[in-house]
Amino acid sequence: MKAPGFVLAVALVITSTAFSVFSQTNQQAVGKKSHSADLVVVPDLKQRLGRFRQVQMPLHSAGLSPREQKMIAKLVEACRYLDDIYWRQIDPEGLELYQSLEASKDPKLVELRRYLWINGSRFDLLDGEKPFVGSEPMSLGRGFYPQGLTSNQVEQYVKEHPEERAEIYSPTTILRSQGDQINGRLLVAIPYHIAYRSFLEPAAADLRGAADLSADPGFANYLRLRADALLTDDYFKSDIAWLELKKPKFDLIFAPYESYDDTLLGVKTTYGASVLVRNEEESHKMEAFQKYVADIQDALPVPERDRPSKHGLETPMEVVDAPFRTGDLGHGYQAVADNLPNDPRVHELKGSKKLFFKNFMDARVNYVILPLAKYMMPQRQAAQASAEGYLLGTIMHEICHGLGPGFAHNASGEKLNIREAIGPIYSGLEEAKADVVGMFSLKWLVDHGVLPKEKLQEYYASYVAGNFRTLRFGAAEAHGQAEMMEFNYYLEHGAVKREASGKYSLDFEKMPAQIESLAKELLEMEATGDRARAEAWFKKYDVIPPELQQSLDKTVSVPVDVDPIFSFPRKVR
Ligand SMILES: [Zn+2]
Repeated sequence: MKAPGFVLAVALVITSTAFSVFSQTNQQAVGKKSHSADLVVVPDLKQRLGRFRQVQMPLHSAGLSPREQKMIAKLVEACRYLDDIYWRQIDPEGLELYQSLEASKDPKLVELRRYLWINGSRFDLLDGEKPFVGSEPMSLGRGFYPQGLTSNQVEQYVKEHPEERAEIYSPTTILRSQGDQINGRLLVAIPYHIAYRSFLEPAAADLRGAADLSADPGFANYLRLRADALLTDDYFKSDIAWLELKKPKFDLIFAPYESYDDTLLGVKTTYGASVLVRNEEESHKMEAFQKYVADIQDALPVPERDRPSKHGLETPMEVVDAPFRTGDLGHGYQAVADNLPNDPRVHELKGSKKLFFKNFMDARVNYVILPLAKYMMPQRQAAQASAEGYLLGTIMHEICHGLGPGFAHNASGEKLNIREAIGPIYSGLEEAKADVVGMFSLKWLVDHGVLPKEKLQEYYASYVAGNFRTLRFGAAEAHGQAEMMEFNYYLEHGAVKREASGKYSLDFEKMPAQIESLAKELLEMEATGDRARAEAWFKKYDVIPPELQQSLDKTVSVPVDVDPIFSFPRKVR
């Protein structure tokens, strides 16, 4: 239970914002109530803020021409419009509160404002999305649905109006209601390109402006197609153009792609944007070993049938710096890698693009993983963990999602979809496979002279240091489940040992064989689609040892994530 929060007396004035569409269609979504009220804020806001380390993420403009800098400024402006939309999707009232605090000099209000920005809402992602200001719980429907609407009501409605199913469940519509009563109300689906038109039109204009300034015809073409997509909600053509870019110097994520924040139906997508600048040096290094991917697949410790040839396939990959982010990429946990788009039609035709955000990865390593390693590992090994090791592990993780069996074959030889055969534990299994086969691959690259032998310990130390970061979040979701299992397995087999000091040391001699045997186990589970085997395996290893939890509890002073400060100021309209 929480102690009562400190009380802040502020008069909040509602300004008329660009809610025109919403106020016509659903008054509830804007929140008409007066904000001239006392704000109750959680008492430990300062400690919560302390868990997000502010990190400068500058645009390195030294090597850029004035024209390129102008183009980036246009892209930044475009990205800001997606932030304007994002807040309205996630927490429209939180946005009003954020804006009302703009002029405040009261340090407590300045802190509140910063925490609102980090979360992009009044709901704390470190605290199960409970409110950190006020007492109103997060509405499941966020800004996507009429308040109070339940998923059962949507299902019932669609049963009665089957012709509206597609637009009701569309990832790019918001729902509003006509009529006040919950039962018998009419749902209206409004396409994003209409609902958010006042932001999307200027965003599209900025993208076209940036296209005019670009020296790269492929990128300019993508920007123009993406501008069109914003105004039609049809992203297919522009996604294809995006995947066809070849080693672009500048790149841009700019779309409603992810549906994690739709807590009602899990279908409505949030807008997210990031300006990307290719990190030439790291991209070049990655290409050097990317050409061995097919050989690694051939070397996996499973029968030939379960490692279908990868020769002749290519996956676009870029190591980039992200000097500006907005929307779902700008708030909440800061991604260090991404794999986009999510449209299965695009996957089938072109695949997807894997992106590694070097500046964010460095920040995570320097401010979270290395400080954690100092608490959790003996000094000599903590010192071996590095940003380079973490980057390589992350790259191989992403590559190895694509390695291993393509299908499962059960005992009678039937070909099965792996995900369906394995069932709910599949996500955890697949994340573990990517981790462990990834580490197997790094050893393979070392053995084949692609990566230096003396770096192997650095890779292992970085991998285990990264485990501690994930384990702090518990084993509730797939990555936590995977890394809990991996860590417990290494403990059981002596590749990782708990010392009397409460720290954990690696046995570098044992690591390679343990990684190989675990990789074999996980690949076999996928290859056989053996649900019972996978479930029993994860059940055995999914409990956090109490003494490990005790050691992790001592790391509270280490941040959980970074709060990026860009060269371009924070603004939302
Ligand atoms: Zn993964």
